Amino acid sequence: MYGSIKETRQKLIGGEVKLPEIVKHFIEKINERNSELNAFLEVFEDEALSRAKEIQKKIDEGKAGKLAGAVIGLKDNIVYKNHKVTACSKILENFESLFSATVVERVLAEDAIIIGRLNCDEFAMGSANETSYFGEANNPWDTERTPGGSSGGASAVVAAGMCNAALGSDTGGSIRQPASFTGIVGLKPTYGRVSRYGLIAYASSFDQIGPLTGNVEDSALILEVIAGRDKMDATSSSRQVEKFSEININFEKGLKIAYIKNIIDHPSLSEDVRKSFTELISDLKDRGFTVEPVDFPYIDYMVPTYYVLTTAEASSNLARYDGIHYGYRSLNAYDLESTYVKSRSEGFGLEVKRRIMTGTFVLSAGYIDQYYGKGQKVRRLIADKTNEIFGRYDFIITPTTPHAAFVHGSKGDDPIKMYLEDIFTVHANIAGIPAISVPLHLNSEGLPFGTQVMAPKFEEKKMFDFAAFLEKELKKY
Ligand code: GLN
Repeated sequence: MYGSIKETRQKLIGGEVKLPEIVKHFIEKINERNSELNAFLEVFEDEALSRAKEIQKKIDEGKAGKLAGAVIGLKDNIVYKNHKVTACSKILENFESLFSATVVERVLAEDAIIIGRLNCDEFAMGSANETSYFGEANNPWDTERTPGGSSGGASAVVAAGMCNAALGSDTGGSIRQPASFTGIVGLKPTYGRVSRYGLIAYASSFDQIGPLTGNVEDSALILEVIAGRDKMDATSSSRQVEKFSEININFEKGLKIAYIKNIIDHPSLSEDVRKSFTELISDLKDRGFTVEPVDFPYIDYMVPTYYVLTTAEASSNLARYDGIHYGYRSLNAYDLESTYVKSRSEGFGLEVKRRIMTGTFVLSAGYIDQYYGKGQKVRRLIADKTNEIFGRYDFIITPTTPHAAFVHGSKGDDPIKMYLEDIFTVHANIAGIPAISVPLHLNSEGLPFGTQVMAPKFEEKKMFDFAAFLEKELKKY
């Protein structure tokens, strides 16, 4: 309603609107829709309003930061000093953080307002926001359906206009898949582009924080603010952070785009997605791009590789929730051993336990070479093959998801069905490359789904330009 973040900032500077008005507008929207969407776990209403007044003063004095006008929700696995953070787990219920994530510090320093905490899958493990201890979040396009996962609250609030951006985390698709299911833009940056300090770890060599936004420019602007070296995260890169938000869609049309041949006839793909993706390929060719099929023999190894490696990392990362250092402690415990066992048994949900057990198994003596070791090797094969394609092409495009949002509960009790939802998104996390989901299509039921663009490591600038071109020229609704 106020346009992009940059436009909103301009309006604020021009005096056309006042920041407290904007915050009040979003709070009204939240009050209107949150009970049916179950997306916000907590709204920092008073705090947001008083910060709006302070920032309004800065605007009036000509000192507005880059994100003045941005009202941001936080996925509840990103910590914010003196605020609760739960990873949507009983084990962290009522836990309060003593410090802020680097991304939080950086957006606040540019005058963003953080408006609340958002529902997600427990410890970001899931594809439908159904593993949350606080219940499922719902899709604003159809509340019977999932907004995706694990950043389901984040996608729902942006799509429903309850704030203008959210920060989520993406380990295997958790930003892009929810973005696809709710018709918004979701970005997973290059591994190392954004500091993970203050992100509750799931699988550390896959996790990245990124924005969920209403448009490509906002995504670029937020990345510009949150990216860059941070001494608190040794895996963060010191690569220069370009001005991503200075978008240029008049690039040379000589760009070369690859699509993976065996995705088009992959059995998981719905007819609607297949049709639109094929149309997109011919639209791009009509616009003068070179678009060619490439062989990628590892599609069916993606999901197994992802789940072997991420569960291994999760089993190690989640060892710290022992009933002593953090959060929940069982009242039924009577000694040290039972404190561990009972606190963890009572505190973690089913899916998290499944992953800890799987991860412990793939790392166990006698099996580690067969599973974890092999997974590492396949990860390398996938990354090498991907880089080889980028030797010849600027981007790889795929559908973000095999279909549009599904009805809650429709994946039944079979975790494998849910895991296969991640088939097209885990690629970028396995290879460490950046990827963005852009909403371009509606299916025959009028539900949105996204197209994914993947680029070589640290090529976010070029990726944003191309994504913005798609958004402007090839969006079908
Ligand atoms: N859906 C995937 C999973 O369940 C991805 C989660 C994520 O990116 N955090 O692991």
